[in-house]
Amino acid sequence: MTYKYRAALLDIYRRTQPNVQLHKISPASLKQQGIEILALDFDGVLAAHGETYPNQELDNWLNQSIKVFGAKNIFILSNKPMQKRIDYFKSYGIDFITQVKKKPYPDGLNKIIALTGTNNQKLMLFDDRLLTGCLAACIAKVPVTYITKPYKLTLFFNSLRFLERGIIQLYGFMK
Ligand SMILES: [Mg+2]
Repeated sequence: MTYKYRAALLDIYRRTQPNVQLHKISPASLKQQGIEILALDFDGVLAAHGETYPNQELDNWLNQSIKVFGAKNIFILSNKPMQKRIDYFKSYGIDFITQVKKKPYPDGLNKIIALTGTNNQKLMLFDDRLLTGCLAACIAKVPVTYITKPYKLTLFFNSLRFLERGIIQLYGFMK
């Protein structure tokens, strides 16, 4: 799967600036681009890895996004659907996608497309991992924003990110 989509992943890696964070992206500008549905990864994107609740600076961003898109059009797509996380987003009226194969399988994104009846080009995924979220987006043909400055990572996840960037760059040399 990674091999088949290597060019698309390399393109995502190369065209993304190094300091992309979710709270710096204006919900209104996404809407202007024609985006109608948001799919948000949790770990790294909304909070540091393993945290239960989103980082506080994202509260404002979430509220703004709800105003622009409506809570029904925002979904959390995490490979770790912890119950406390699910309950937290329920209080916002935001659904947490569960019972699907984990990213990089495109099942979660396809579920969002089915639930909303939207065109896949009107959905955007925000994810800090190339080989899980970004790959899933390539497979599902969904636009993706690669979050290149995730919230405080443990050494383990930093190494993982370093490793996958290496793999993607290596594919670039092999072309
Ligand atoms: Mg993540």
